[in-house]
Amino acid sequence: MAVTLKTRKARPRRISILGSTGSVGRNTIDLVRRDAASYEVEALTAHTNVALLAEQARALRPRMAVIAEEHLYGALKDALHGTNVEPAAGVAALVEAAGRPADWVMAAIVGAAGLRPTLAAIARGVTVALANKECLVSAGAVMLAEVKKSGATLLPVDSEHSAIFQVFDFDNAEAVERIILTASGGPFLDLERDAMARVTPAQAVAHPNWSMGAKISVDSATMMNKGLEVIEASYLFPVAEDRIEVLVHPQSVVHSLVAYSDGSVLAQLGMPDMRTPIAYALAWPRRKSSPATRLDLAAVGELTFRAPDPVRFPALRLAREALKTGGAAPTVLNAANEMAVQGFLAGEIGFLDMMDVVSDTVAMGPVGAIASVEDVAAVDLEARRIARERVAARRSRGR
Ligand code: NAD
Ligand code: MG
Repeated sequence: MAVTLKTRKARPRRISILGSTGSVGRNTIDLVRRDAASYEVEALTAHTNVALLAEQARALRPRMAVIAEEHLYGALKDALHGTNVEPAAGVAALVEAAGRPADWVMAAIVGAAGLRPTLAAIARGVTVALANKECLVSAGAVMLAEVKKSGATLLPVDSEHSAIFQVFDFDNAEAVERIILTASGGPFLDLERDAMARVTPAQAVAHPNWSMGAKISVDSATMMNKGLEVIEASYLFPVAEDRIEVLVHPQSVVHSLVAYSDGSVLAQLGMPDMRTPIAYALAWPRRKSSPATRLDLAAVGELTFRAPDPVRFPALRLAREALKTGGAAPTVLNAANEMAVQGFLAGEIGFLDMMDVVSDTVAMGPVGAIASVEDVAAVDLEARRIARERVAARRSRGR
């Protein structure tokens, strides 16, 4: 008897991209546009960049495009004139868009501002590709409780966490001894402390290997990015804080490693291109092609590793302390860091002042348990108020 194999074409996946105009958002759009027939776009969202959001919407034809700043509604509506894309503006519209039916949502808003939209996507029980590490740092327990309740799947997009996710044997988690997060060390890896005090925002955002948004680039320069990633890893993987190590690896080729009890160490490698971890999250549990440059180890030649310097980069210690303290501490740490980075980028405080602002705010900030998104919001607000005061105090001293 002849057997006929029916090949049914899979229906397009319905996706939304929160923070579509940012660095991760644009890389996601690049992958989607290369394989457009496989996707139907539900929503795209941005903060203020109407022109780029409209251009993306004209190319991808989402059902909805949202600009977070309410006063930009008219501009977005004009820019979408003649399309079927529904324009919307404001925070409520952003949360509404994030909770619209989709199979896959990219959470790529920067900072704690992404928390409510990301939670709205999680609440639908869909697959959420999480780039926004600040919301996990600020509200990890609340987010994981919502994931459990809704049955959502959280996939890491951060390159280190994607690497660990790819080599972590979840069926033998007890055999995992350590996870090792690699860090490029940022642009000031070898700069003396005195010189670090004088670096400019332009120097700090010029990352040697990765092209990223301004906030995460500054975080990479202070190494607070790795501190946030230690906290992020503690929520994503069943590994305690004292078994999460950080290793400086200036070439950013080995994206992270998992060490097992038999002495094996598994790593994921690739060129520093976010389209690789984004493609992994987009296709999981399968794989899809990405245009990232292929790794040529002979051309790279040398891979080097060293321990982080705790004196010039106190951020790692601050983040570990916050993680060990728990409760409100990581929320305070994250909020203080967001305000410190904002102050540095605005030219109000120096590079080294940032970690002093974070340290002071953690010492003075609210303490206690976090049980709800309202608790997170209250602690976040108070920590921002204190951090702004610390920024202002340093600014007046600096003049
Ligand atoms: P980005 O600054 O380039 O983009 C941020 C996006 O968020 C933009 O689309 C912006 O419009 C939107 N946004 C900003 N503030 C908002 C607000 N208040 N309300 C609504 N939308 C807002 O940042 P990025 O580099 O793409 O990073 C995004 C997230 O991904 C961050 O949490 C970052 O730590 C993480 N991440 C980024 C990279 C990278 O390579 N860029 C790598 C790993 C993790
Ligand atoms: Mg990272």
